[in-house]
Amino acid sequence: MTHPRIGLGWDVHRIEPGRPLRLVGLTLDPDRGPVAHSDGDVLAHAVVDALLGAAGLDDIGTLFPDDDPRWKGAAGPALLELAVAALADAGWRPLQVDAVIIADRPRIAPHRDALRRALADCLGLGPGDVNVKGKRTEGLGGLAGGAGIGCRAIVQIGPLGDTPR
Ligand code: MG
Repeated sequence: MTHPRIGLGWDVHRIEPGRPLRLVGLTLDPDRGPVAHSDGDVLAHAVVDALLGAAGLDDIGTLFPDDDPRWKGAAGPALLELAVAALADAGWRPLQVDAVIIADRPRIAPHRDALRRALADCLGLGPGDVNVKGKRTEGLGGLAGGAGIGCRAIVQIGPLGDTPR
């Protein structure tokens, strides 16, 4: 199995006042954020699940159970780091990520470049191999009106030790 593989991940969290919204270590809103056992970083969680899926490993909920006190308040970048380590143990490394964050607020566009850089840093990739964009709900579904935030991510991984492209 030396060919590149792809993985898909998605995550969603309810948003409430009185907590910060942090994605890959960046605070996008200090006052309205996700309700979660961890820090509720939908971008990190979707990418972690995509990476694990691509490598054929257990999913994020199995690796980091939400009833395990070790993961209470766990930061997105820390979970990404652990996922990359799990991939390496299995002989894989991240090659590329594309992610879309679904939220009516905050607006993602002003944070796109910073999110790309931060996520790329977490994965040991260049910003050119990581894309992040935002999409609003058009008032449809449970995330509408800022009630929640979601993220879908697709990743490509390749064998560890292959020369970089
Ligand atoms: Mg999550």
